[in-house]
Amino acid sequence: MRILILGGAGYIGSHVVREFLDNGAEVTVFDNLSSGLRENLFPEAAFVHGSILDYDSLRRAMSEGFDAMVHLAAFKAAGESMIAPEKYSVNNISGTINILNAAAETGIRRFIFSSSAAVYGEPEYLPIDENHPLNPENYYGFTKLEIERILSWYDQLKEIKFAALRYFNAAGYDPTGRITGLEQNPANLLPIIMEVAAGTRPALSIFGDDYNTPDGTGIRDYVHVSDLAAAHYQAFRYLEAKNTSLTVNLGSESGLSVREILDTARRITGKEIPARVAPRRPGDPAKLVASSRLARERLGWKALHSDVESLAATSWQVYKSADA
Ligand code: UDP
Repeated sequence: MRILILGGAGYIGSHVVREFLDNGAEVTVFDNLSSGLRENLFPEAAFVHGSILDYDSLRRAMSEGFDAMVHLAAFKAAGESMIAPEKYSVNNISGTINILNAAAETGIRRFIFSSSAAVYGEPEYLPIDENHPLNPENYYGFTKLEIERILSWYDQLKEIKFAALRYFNAAGYDPTGRITGLEQNPANLLPIIMEVAAGTRPALSIFGDDYNTPDGTGIRDYVHVSDLAAAHYQAFRYLEAKNTSLTVNLGSESGLSVREILDTARRITGKEIPARVAPRRPGDPAKLVASSRLARERLGWKALHSDVESLAATSWQVYKSADA
C-alpha cells in the first residue's frame, strides 16, 4: 500500500500519516511547510518539500506510483477566509485542481479529501446529516464545497473515486505522544485554551455567553484527531473494496460547550486559565452537532477518543512542554 499525503506535516496530516504507517503503508509526505512542521515528519515516511501550486513538481512527486492520495494541504481559518479570500481561492481551489489534474495524468484513482462541516453553514436541524442543505457561511466552507463538486465531476469524467470527509471540530493529540508539533497562531478553541494554560497567551476570550444553550456558550461537536485519522485509513479500504465515491460526516455526535471544555481543561491542567466573555464572533451558530451514522455504516468508523477528558488530556500532554 503506497500512499501520498499532501499536507502531511500539518496538525491533522501528521496524525493521518501516523495512522497509515501504523497500518503498514509506505507513505510519502508532500508539504510546503507553510504551516506544517518538520517536527511532524516521521523518519519512516519519505518527504517531498513542494507546493501544490507548482504543477511540475507535484506531477513528478505523484508519478511515483501510489494506490491513493490524501489531500490536507489547505488553509483552514474561516475568519481569515472572509478577509483574504484570494489566498483561499488560489491555494484551496486552484491547488486542488492541480492535484486532480496531476492525478488524472499520473493514474492515481483514489482521492481522500479533507472537507469540513463548514459546507453546511447555519444549521436548519440537528444533528446535521449529509442530506442537510449546503449553505456555507464563510469563504473557507465555500472552497470545500466547490472542491466536493469538482470531485464528483472528476469521478464521472476521469474515474477518480473520492472520499470527502466532512470534519467537525478536530482537537486533541496522538494519545501515545508521538506527535508534538504545536500549531502556530492557532485560531481554534482547544489550542487557544492550551496556550493560555501553558502561559504563552494571556487569556481566553469566550465569544458570547448569551446563546440559547444551557450555559450560554457555543456548542460544537469535537472529534479527536486520532479518530479522524483512523477514518482516512478506513476510507482508503472502502475505496479499494467498493470503487465508489463517498461523502461522510466525521463527528463525535455529542456537543460540548466552550465552558465545559474550559472547566475540563482547568481541572486537567491544574491551571487557572483566565477567561473573559467577549462579543459573539460573526457567523458563529449556537450549536452544531453531527450525525455520523453514515460513516459508521459505510466505514465501520467510531469515535473512540473524542470525550472531553481525552481531548483535553492528550492536548495538555503536548502543550505542557511549552509551560513557562
Ligand atoms: N471560541 C471561543 N473563543 C476562542 C475561539 C473559539 O469562545 O478564542 C468558541 C467559538 O465561538 C465556538 C467554539 O469555541 O463556539 C469553537 O470555535 P473554533 O474556532 O475552534 O471552531 P469553529 O466551530 O468555529 O470551526
